[in-house]
Amino acid sequence: MKIIIAGAGIAGLAAAKAMEIKGHQCEIYEQSRGPRLTGAGIFLLGNATRALNRLVELEPIEGLGRQIREQRIFSSDGKLIHAMSADDFWMDCGPCLAMPRSVLIQSLLSCLKHTKITYGKAVVDFHRTPTGVLALMSDGSSEEGDLVVAADGVNSWLRRITSGCRPRPLGISCWRTVTENVADISAWTAMLGRGRTLLAIPITADKAYLYADCRTSEVKNGAAQELKDMFRDFGAPLGCLLAQLDRSAEIHFGALEEVPDFRNFEEGLVFIGDAAHACSPSMAQGAGMALEDALVLAEIVSDTSSREPILRRFSQQRQQRVAWVRQQARARDMLRGLSPIVRDFTLKHLGDRLYNRSYRLLKGNLMDGTF
Ligand SMILES: Cc1cc2nc3c(=O)[nH]c(=O)nc-3n(C[C@H](O)[C@H](O)[C@H](O)COP(=O)(O)OP(=O)(O)OC[C@H]3O[C@@H](n4cnc5c(N)ncnc54)[C@H](O)[C@@H]3O)c2cc1C
Repeated sequence: MKIIIAGAGIAGLAAAKAMEIKGHQCEIYEQSRGPRLTGAGIFLLGNATRALNRLVELEPIEGLGRQIREQRIFSSDGKLIHAMSADDFWMDCGPCLAMPRSVLIQSLLSCLKHTKITYGKAVVDFHRTPTGVLALMSDGSSEEGDLVVAADGVNSWLRRITSGCRPRPLGISCWRTVTENVADISAWTAMLGRGRTLLAIPITADKAYLYADCRTSEVKNGAAQELKDMFRDFGAPLGCLLAQLDRSAEIHFGALEEVPDFRNFEEGLVFIGDAAHACSPSMAQGAGMALEDALVLAEIVSDTSSREPILRRFSQQRQQRVAWVRQQARARDMLRGLSPIVRDFTLKHLGDRLYNRSYRLLKGNLMDGTF
C-alpha cells in the first residue's frame, strides 16, 4: 500500500517505521522546515519502550536514555509521601526511560530506510477518489495514495476540517525546560503543593527535565520569573533546580489541552497520536499511545484476511486503551487538585494500589482489542 502521513512527530515517524517493517511505501509531509528537535524531555513507561523497541530494534533499548528505576512523590516542604519501584512494576514489559525529546525523534528518523520526508509542506485537505485517496498540500500540489494517516498533533487541521473537532483547554498551564541536575536526582521525582506540581526526571548523565504546572487562572504571563516566584516555597529535593534557572534557559510555556472524543467517518483517513487523543500528560502516555497506535495500525493495514474497513478495525482495537488512559489522566489531575491533607493521605496509603490500577492493564497484549 502507499501511505501518506501528515506530520513528522513521534506518531508520524513511528507509523512510517511500522509500515516500512510491513513492506508498505510511505511519504511523510511535515509543515515545519526541518525536524522538530526542541521540547525538553520525555518519559517513557514500560509499555512505551516495549513499542519503541519493536520499531528501532536497538539492543539494548536502555542505550537511548536514562533508566528510571523509581518514582517518588514529595510534599512541597520535602516530606516523602510515596515511593515505588518502576523497575519491579514494569519488569515483564519494558524499562522506564527518560531522554531529551530530540533523542527520541532522531532515533525514529535514523531507523527509517525507504520513507521520503518532505519538510515545509502541510497536508491541508483530503478527498476520496475511485481508486484511493488524494491529499492536498499547502503549496497546491497533491499526492495520491491508498491511505492518509493524520499524525498532525493536538491542533490537527485534518481533524478540524473533517469532523469540526477542536481541542479544549484543561485549565492547567505548564512550564518545561532542561536544566543542570544540581540536585543529583536519580528517580522520577514529583513535589506536590497546593494546586501546583513540580517534577524532575534525569535525562542524561548531568541534565534533568523539569516540569511545573498550576491552574491557568493563576498565571499572568508565563515568564521564567513567574515560574520561580510561584514555586519559591518548594524545598528540597527539587527547589534548587528552579532556583538556579537563569535567563538563558530555554523554557516552554503553554496551556494543556485535550482532544474530546470525536467520530471520524472518512474511510481512507486514520487519526493517530495527539491528533486522535491528546490528553493531560499526567499518565505520561502520549508518546506511548502514539507508538502503540503506529504498531497496531500497521498490523491492521497488513491483515488482508479481514474485509472490515481499516478505520473500524483500528478504532475497535484502540478505543478501550485510549479511553482508559484519558480517564486515568483525569483522575490523576483530580487527585492532584484535592486539598493537600486528603491528597497526601490518599497517596501515602493507597499510592501503590492507585498506580497498579492506572497502569496494570497497559502491560497487556497490544493486539488484544480489550486492552
Ligand atoms: C507538557 C507535556 C508533557 C508531556 N510529557 C510526556 C511524557 O513525559 N511522556 C509521554 O509519553 N508523553 C508526554 N507528553 C505527550 C507527548 O508529547 C505527545 O503525546 C506526543 O508528542 C504526540 O506526538 P504526535 O506525533 O502525535 O504530535 P506532535 O508531536 O504534535 O507532532 C505533530 C507534527 O505534525 C506537524 N503538523 C501539524 N499539522 C500538519 C499538517 N497539516 N501537515 C503536515 N504536518 C503537520 C507538526 O509540525 C508536528 O511536527 C507530554 C505532553 C505535554 C503537553
